[in-house]
Amino acid sequence: MQDLAKYSFNAELSDEKALERLVQIENQVSSWLIEKGATSPIQTQGKFISLTGDGAGNYHKKDTTSDAGIFKEYSLTEESGRDQIFTTKIQAIYDNKELTIYTSLSITSASNTVTPHLVFPRCPKIIRTILANFSDWKFGDEHLPIPRPINAMGGREETYALCDEILNPRRRLPLIVISLDADEAVWNELPSSLANDLIALSQIYVIDEEGSWTLTDELGKQNSCYLGAVRLYWPITDKGKDPDSIVWTAGKLQQAFGESNKGLKKFCGNIRRMIMSTAALTLSAPKSLREIQNSATIERLKKLEDSARDEELTEIVEENYRLEGELAETKALIARLQWKINHLESQTTAPPPDDEESEPREAANDETHIQAKSGELRYYKKIGKKGDTDTLVVTAPCNHPSSCWTPAHKAIQAEKGLQKLEGRDDWRSMQHCSRCTGGGRWKVQW
Ligand SMILES: [Zn+2]
Repeated sequence: MQDLAKYSFNAELSDEKALERLVQIENQVSSWLIEKGATSPIQTQGKFISLTGDGAGNYHKKDTTSDAGIFKEYSLTEESGRDQIFTTKIQAIYDNKELTIYTSLSITSASNTVTPHLVFPRCPKIIRTILANFSDWKFGDEHLPIPRPINAMGGREETYALCDEILNPRRRLPLIVISLDADEAVWNELPSSLANDLIALSQIYVIDEEGSWTLTDELGKQNSCYLGAVRLYWPITDKGKDPDSIVWTAGKLQQAFGESNKGLKKFCGNIRRMIMSTAALTLSAPKSLREIQNSATIERLKKLEDSARDEELTEIVEENYRLEGELAETKALIARLQWKINHLESQTTAPPPDDEESEPREAANDETHIQAKSGELRYYKKIGKKGDTDTLVVTAPCNHPSSCWTPAHKAIQAEKGLQKLEGRDDWRSMQHCSRCTGGGRWKVQW
């Protein structure tokens, strides 16, 4: 079995409200199963021909109540025509204080074949329904990401709030920033597509050129996001350090996926798979789940056995409980280590920076910079500002006609930035494009 994704969210509720919500969720699960082809999902188990899969489907329902709380589990398996069995397990756990919905998606090979399954999972519809119907879900103490991009356009408080959130050491979910640079962005629908795909797993933010300037100023160029790039910031694992992040520049997106809608879907699928598989490795069921099950077992045994044996049985159950706890901790440790390995792999398998000294280099959204040579023609864009000096990066030329280029006058801040970036000030000419937006684009003949 291979875990594809996990979702976890919770809400603090009174007993009365929790019971009410558990009934509503059960009704929503029933409707979902009926949509899938089940005829009588009220029973504890059943088989049906799946309308959404390619073969047989079956479901089962478990219900446990004890002093420690209520535990309900709904599990659905569906066969796909390609030797794959998909399982969606929805667990509702109420510990007399908090209701947690913990969901896992997994895949098994029907013929026991040992092979990794390259699937691009999606958030199950039932999870979307449960999320949409109640507005008080959280992830631990954090707000759950909203399934729409947050506008952190430049100069607004939201941009500074975004910087704080990127550096927030208590953040436990990945966060994605998309630069909506008018001249560079590859797909206009990317923010809404990603926000919809990564519901409950990652918050998407969009920034414009000015927003990028703020990010560069606050986080430094190496952690910024500009010129149509997309950057994923993992939660901070080492206190006092910057969060690990992965960046896709506009050029790389264009090159690897293309500008079409198909390319957009492919890119979203890749990101979804990366974040979902990380969630699958790192999220675990709330501890109260075992407490509820164990106390239910004890209660049952107490009813069955003589009172003299109660103590012994309690001991056995407690011992089992302790061992289970240790096992869960060990599993969590393995998962964290596995996550680190995957994460490091994702960094090392990223395409190496293009070091070809050919024509205008793509703005790399990182620190690698090769100094300009005499005779070279280079294009630059502003990505931030430090004091009276612009922060510039080398970029590709724009598509505007040559009549748009005019000699730069009184561009003191840009000149200072150019000098700072290249370590020399002996350019032969410096021109500015009047059509490029924001801080514009500079054409420099060295
Ligand atoms: Zn231009």
